[in-house]
Amino acid sequence: MILLRGGRVVDPAEGLDGLHDVLIDGRRIAAVGPHLDAAADRTIDAARLLIVPGLIDMHVHLREPGFEAKETILTGARAAVRGGFTTVCAMPNTRPVNDRRETTERILAEASRAGLVNVLPIAAVTLGSAGRELVDMPDLIAAGAIAFSDDGRPVANSRMMRRALEMAAASGGLVIDHCEDLPLAEGGMINEGRASARLGLPGIPPAAEDIAVARDIILAEALGARVHIAHLSTAGSVRMVGEAKARGVRVSAEATPHHLLLTDEALVSRDANFKMNPPLRSASDAAALVEGLRTGAVDVIATDHAPHTAEEKGRAFEAAPFGIVGLETAVSLVLDRLVRPGTISLARFVEVMSVGPARILGLARKGRISVGADADLTVIDPDLPVTVDRTRFESKGRNTPFDGWSLRGGPVMTIVGGRIVYPFDGASPAGRP
Ligand SMILES: [Zn+2]
Repeated sequence: MILLRGGRVVDPAEGLDGLHDVLIDGRRIAAVGPHLDAAADRTIDAARLLIVPGLIDMHVHLREPGFEAKETILTGARAAVRGGFTTVCAMPNTRPVNDRRETTERILAEASRAGLVNVLPIAAVTLGSAGRELVDMPDLIAAGAIAFSDDGRPVANSRMMRRALEMAAASGGLVIDHCEDLPLAEGGMINEGRASARLGLPGIPPAAEDIAVARDIILAEALGARVHIAHLSTAGSVRMVGEAKARGVRVSAEATPHHLLLTDEALVSRDANFKMNPPLRSASDAAALVEGLRTGAVDVIATDHAPHTAEEKGRAFEAAPFGIVGLETAVSLVLDRLVRPGTISLARFVEVMSVGPARILGLARKGRISVGADADLTVIDPDLPVTVDRTRFESKGRNTPFDGWSLRGGPVMTIVGGRIVYPFDGASPAGRP
């Protein structure tokens, strides 16, 4: 048994915000309350620390199998728990694409060998993510797939997307769509606007996202089916998702820390660490995303952690792949830039990084600190000084636009299934006994 003593427990799912002890017995939470009288094998002093339900990242690229030079399940898992995440959802654009039972099982086996973080595989919507033939959703769900997405290669054919939403509804699955009208976006590298003009780079118009979001909302509404929109980046899509929710459409959406905190004006040079898809948008788009996060149009913060090798990201901007890493910077960025100034509350932080993902993914025993819930906990020091140093990442990926940023607040202990998986040496937070 492990006893966390005297931390500030923040759990909007249970209506908790106060000083409590949390007792862990095996893989579950055994008790929560002030001044618990329990004989634990290990007692951890959590005074001045926050204890929140384990954070869940719905959108991560772990790259294994097939792209182990970028990341492996083990290095991605180490990055996840160092970043305070207890569960990550692994996108299927590996080699082979995760479109069948064997690949899902292989990812789960590798994750359990790593033994650090819960890895929930997302399977492809179509075989090979080629957009032609639907995967066997019931079989993949039975094998452990948590959702379906052709992320990076969106389902362009609306008839196929409609069948996917129908099939997912019938089998209890969830479709996550990367919304991009491919012909409209083709050849683009950054947001279409002043920055693309100044840098002489081809632009990706916001309409490329808006059109695909509108289509998905229309299909979900017509079918009464659920759809989850990955990485919103435009004011238009935030508005449409908000309006759709208001009239009862079963749509949910995520935003990344980089789309919330950066704009295309940050692109002062052709630095490929600022190249991602969707691209960084304008200041008014970022402001709309933040407002959506406050008001509920945006349900989730997800990182879209997308590691690449230094060689790949070191190429000329035009030739470098899209994507940045996010697992080891997300918590500090959100705490320092959104919670500290009061833009969102601590309870909202927990909602969008744990409670919301658990609800959308149907994880009944996660996203809450209550008796019988999984003992997945993130312990945060709200005053921890953090300087982002990509040379010290656990991830193989060094591709971040946040290198050198000074932030306050960060994870100091990660507990998964009742085991302290971070710090890696088992030390107490802040070195206390
Ligand atoms: Zn994507």
